[in-house]
Amino acid sequence: MALLEISDLRKSYRAPDGSAHEVIRIRRFELGERTQMALSGPSGSGKTTFLHLIAGILTADTGRLTLDGIEMSTLKESERDRLRARSIGYIFQTFNLLQGFSVLENVLLGMSFGVGADRERAVALLQRVGLGDRLHHRPRQLSTGQQQRVAVARALAHRPKLVLADEPTGNLDATNAAEALALIRGACEENGAALLLVSHDPGILARFPERHSLAELNQAGRPEVRS
Ligand code: ADP
Ligand code: MG
Repeated sequence: MALLEISDLRKSYRAPDGSAHEVIRIRRFELGERTQMALSGPSGSGKTTFLHLIAGILTADTGRLTLDGIEMSTLKESERDRLRARSIGYIFQTFNLLQGFSVLENVLLGMSFGVGADRERAVALLQRVGLGDRLHHRPRQLSTGQQQRVAVARALAHRPKLVLADEPTGNLDATNAAEALALIRGACEENGAALLLVSHDPGILARFPERHSLAELNQAGRPEVRS
């Protein structure tokens, strides 16, 4: 069984006039353990919505989404939150670091809802991403590229089986973006995590041997096809 299995997943949003606007309609999608995959798609094509559905931040209208053998739609909200805290690492485009806490505390907090804070592991991960001498800095005292590396360490801290990355290099220049991507991919591999990354940046997408266009997978807004 694949780490992530999706079938007949649908999500619509309500437009201001009350009409439903279908954003995701995916018949089948699978991601194996320790697999790295990139999904491309222009702005507004549903990339963030798709990752939020996988992470259980949003709930689907219909369909099945099984993560590590657990069918998400059968879970209560609190159980979904717990599954996410245990099994998923999330790297946001804007990093979402807590500004009132140090680099080390940000990583420790990321662990505390899952496996529990492990200071030794947090420090080792921050050393791995090149921030061993920045443990007690606040996020805003770091460069954008360094902040992204904190986010990478935080995403892996609780040993998730799946890392979701939403345009993780969108705020970086080309050199930093290439470095950050290599770091994300290397760190996921070393930690045994699968990686699903979404991006609209051709330079990033080209570095993934396995890449798909979300538009190919996503039938949203198209006529229903029976088969
Ligand atoms: P992407 O990440 O590919 O840019 P999104 O998943 O953010 O795309 O958005 C896909 C579509 O869904 C867009 O048309 C967007 O306007 C719409 N959308 C996203 N979030 C909401 C929301 N909370 N309510 C209504 N529409 C939304
Ligand atoms: Mg997005």
